Amino acid sequence: MILAELKKSLEEERDRLVTDLKSIARPHPGVAGEWDTQFPKFEPGESGSHASQEEEADEVEEYENRLAAEGSLETRLLAINRALERIAHGTFGKCATCSQPIPLERLRANPAAEHDMPHEKRIES
Ligand SMILES: [Zn+2]
Repeated sequence: MILAELKKSLEEERDRLVTDLKSIARPHPGVAGEWDTQFPKFEPGESGSHASQEEEADEVEEYENRLAAEGSLETRLLAINRALERIAHGTFGKCATCSQPIPLERLRANPAAEHDMPHEKRIES
């Protein structure tokens, strides 16, 4: 059955996203779906002293990369979870704007799609 197939791919993507998020962020306490990006701590140098200025600059750069990655992972995870909720509530596969059925090819390409083509928002892809 197609719905079971789409549900499975949504669940698989959700698990991958959570794994990726856990590597750079932690769940925000008390707020479901919110993640806090972790500041990277590189291993201390051989001297065992404080991080050099270059190391600190690398950490800041890595943190900025993580912030950007965390933002898009979190957004995607929320979309996946909304799709799984729609499956649970029996409203999956209908455009959130006009309630028309979303074409199956579109759902296969992106099971988290919330709109048909006329009402597509860029954020979905
Ligand atoms: Zn629509």
